Amino acid sequence: MAKVRILPDRVANQIAAGEVIERPAAVVKELVENSLDAGATRIDVEFRHGGRALMRVEDNGAGMARDDALLALERHATSKIAAAADLDHLASYGFRGEALPSIASVSRFELQTRESGSDAGTEILVNGGRLVHVRDCGRPVGTRIEVSHLFNSVPARRKFLKSDQTEAAHIVHCVRLYALACPRTAFTLIEDGRIVFRSPECSTLAERVAEIFGRQLAEAVVPIEAAEPGLRLSGLVGRPGVGRTTRHEMIVFVNARPVDSRTLNYALIESYHESLPKGRYPLAFLFFECDPALVDVNVHPAKREVRFRSEAQVRGFVIRSVLQRLRELTPGAAREDLGEVHAEKPAPASPPVIPVGLVETRRVEPPPAAVVVPGRAHGAMPHVVTQAPVGTAPARERPPASGALPPAVVPAWRFVGLAHGSYVLFETAAGVVLLDRRAAHERVWFERLREQFRAGTVPSQRLLLPVPVELDAIAAAVLLERLDFLQAHGFEIREFGRNFFRVEALPAWMEPGDAEPFLRDLVGAFREGTVSGRNLDLAREELARLAVAKAVRLPPPGGETEMRALVAQLFATRSPLTNPAGRPTYIELNHGELSRRFQK
Ligand code: ADP
Ligand code: MG
Repeated sequence: MAKVRILPDRVANQIAAGEVIERPAAVVKELVENSLDAGATRIDVEFRHGGRALMRVEDNGAGMARDDALLALERHATSKIAAAADLDHLASYGFRGEALPSIASVSRFELQTRESGSDAGTEILVNGGRLVHVRDCGRPVGTRIEVSHLFNSVPARRKFLKSDQTEAAHIVHCVRLYALACPRTAFTLIEDGRIVFRSPECSTLAERVAEIFGRQLAEAVVPIEAAEPGLRLSGLVGRPGVGRTTRHEMIVFVNARPVDSRTLNYALIESYHESLPKGRYPLAFLFFECDPALVDVNVHPAKREVRFRSEAQVRGFVIRSVLQRLRELTPGAAREDLGEVHAEKPAPASPPVIPVGLVETRRVEPPPAAVVVPGRAHGAMPHVVTQAPVGTAPARERPPASGALPPAVVPAWRFVGLAHGSYVLFETAAGVVLLDRRAAHERVWFERLREQFRAGTVPSQRLLLPVPVELDAIAAAVLLERLDFLQAHGFEIREFGRNFFRVEALPAWMEPGDAEPFLRDLVGAFREGTVSGRNLDLAREELARLAVAKAVRLPPPGGETEMRALVAQLFATRSPLTNPAGRPTYIELNHGELSRRFQK
């Protein structure tokens, strides 16, 4: 490995210095980056108690000579650059020479390292920034750094740490990012003695994704490859229609560095504008490469953010490339199609079997051919009739049982027609009303589900073919904690091997094909704390909200009878004016407003 040198003050000052260690994951990040910079082909990371108690990173990289190792603990000591201009052709993750001294100043820091060619290794122990000892040690070529008692000497810092679970999630996410960036390096990640993932050297990114995120996710993405002079894009992007409620799985790299790039994130979201429903984020593992001179990595203390010299050029390139790929995947997708989602395959005409690993989601109304009606092939479904979607047929009209108000409250609106399958026009005494079918349907179902959840009477359907769901380790842990809650609300889910689950029964209102994406959304909501276990009523309400937004399907519109039934059901709810997200269910234009608009 190159010699470690202290940067001249002039150079050091030109580099945005700053506190890099804000939480345990930052330590892991710096150590893993150093291991990769040292050319490691194997990196083992272990931590305990969210990193508070211990973080250990061991590599088989080049190692350091004793003098270099001692020098590396000084501020601005680095072997990676010698002058500020070197930043323009940076080929390493590190360059500031700040990480090791910063970490060592706020922890008990033990470094063991051996260079090839030297007989003995060196062990250096630093406690709270004070050198305790330097001595020989036996170890294979490479470096091991153990950090414990993080922030013990800085209680103010310790107070800011979140729960072990949260800190652990950050560490896991961080190691994943580098494992994705370097598929050829073998990675092991161990939390509290348990393996989070262990991935041998992989020859492709897709393999690595499957290793650490699971096969199911790997099947939801497709390779992308594009180039324009001086710019290159590669990696994996989600199939059209496959999205997430959070950005956790929208991951971008610039010249192999995992970054938070607004430019790239927005370009991605924009590219999926027509391929995903509103509010959902694309899945992506996207590698953007360009001349290092065109990107500034030195704008954030933890180097998380980057800036491009030409944001517009990068943005345009990414959008063009991703759109092009999405178009290839959406053969004959009619642009005038009003749907927000272009699923790759049309929905099957009858849904007898749910293909394993089916990941496409259709959130908009299915075409009439795909309408699921009672009497479908899988399983006896005794609840289908009473739980039939609103307004599928007059025989099944049934306002929600509880909280039903006397019919007199139902407004006397005269049905006029339906526009775009979505908006129902009524003539009223005061003028006209435009009802948003989906919003109304969501309100009706929200109250129905909330009632069922409260009463503990969620009709459940057993699946002939259990739906497999593979999750990452943290999501799996989160789900495991909530299995009882879900069970009480119509889901029967069994753990079936590490991070692998089988959904064996579902609430009767849910299509089996929607189970997997819905569960992912739900686990996302658990993780974000939007459906928390503290207050059961609130949790139920959130569950119902999520269900109507994501999983309860809108039936085909039908005609006058169905639309009038929908109005009756809407006005039997407690809050007919809004959908569960607070948007209006209808708008009314009275005579006055109409005259004004027509300038009469
Ligand atoms: P930087 O990475 O910005 O150079 P660090 O403080 O992270 O600064 O590391 C200082 C120096 O210590 C590095 O430049 C490198 O020479 C050496 N070093 C750190 N970690 C390792 C490692 N795991 N293997 C070999 N050398 C290392
Ligand atoms: Mg470093």
